Amino acid sequence: MLYNTYSDYLKNKYGQRVYKLPVNLPITCPNRDGTCSAGGCIFCGEVGAAFENLPSTMSVSEQIDENMSFIGHKYKANKFIAYFQNFTNTYMPIEVFKKNISDAVKDNIVEIAISTRPDCIREDYMEFLHELSQDTGINISIELGLQTVNYKTLKHINRGHTLAEFIDAVLIIKKYGFDICAHLILNLPWDDIEDTIECAKILSALGINQVKLHSLYIVKDTPIAEMYLNKEFDMGTYMDYVNRVIIFLEHLSSEVVIQRLIGRAKEEHTLFANYGTSWWKIKDTIDDVMRQRNTYQGRLCNYLGGSALKKF
Ligand code: SF4
Repeated sequence: MLYNTYSDYLKNKYGQRVYKLPVNLPITCPNRDGTCSAGGCIFCGEVGAAFENLPSTMSVSEQIDENMSFIGHKYKANKFIAYFQNFTNTYMPIEVFKKNISDAVKDNIVEIAISTRPDCIREDYMEFLHELSQDTGINISIELGLQTVNYKTLKHINRGHTLAEFIDAVLIIKKYGFDICAHLILNLPWDDIEDTIECAKILSALGINQVKLHSLYIVKDTPIAEMYLNKEFDMGTYMDYVNRVIIFLEHLSSEVVIQRLIGRAKEEHTLFANYGTSWWKIKDTIDDVMRQRNTYQGRLCNYLGGSALKKF
């Protein structure tokens, strides 16, 4: 096995294929509304992380029903994850949060996945999720945007938090036993291969359950688009990205589930995305190069649990 795939993980956990149903709330993010900053992350477009979403004017329940009927019919699926995907889905008063999440509790929903920022994790929100999970049997997973562990790069990309907030959020979530998925952009131009390796090491040491990797997209009308047009940084090559992913996987614990090796972006919104090729071609190249190198996830994960004591 080259790496621990999300589809296998879901099949083992739920006994069949499970599909994510995106839920799009009419919300924002503390890094856009002036709480942390007004500018947002330098790569963030106004549409947030949306790709296949229904309008946020529809209720949570309507969005889930419509997506469940479409995806259920198309793939003959009958187990689903309600996925609160866009912007920061815990950034709202607790009562509003409770209502939104409770509205996702439906027949055939086996998990609720909530995407948010590390500085928007608080005990009362987690306590509610824990109770809901106990009452309904629905699993909870939390997706945390991190992008990189290099706190200098985090400042450069205007994340509005550092590595410390990520560690704090992980320690809080872990108390409730929810799965944690970390989002990373592996080829940020201000990171080098040492940062890529350190990302894998820190996520492994913290016991992160899943990762989603993305390459850097240049979304139109963002601060990074201006920097890109002014040629202020080098995007690197297709093979640079492939190499970074492989080195990351080699240093990552074999326990971590890989949700994605590469993301997707709408062409009409971007100046640059995935080196002008399709996400699945990049994935296939990563798989091919890993086979050629005879390598696999966790091959170099030899640094945990008192590694300097090995000779004793
Ligand atoms: S945290 Fe997410 S939604 Fe907020 S500015 Fe950054 S990328 Fe955009």
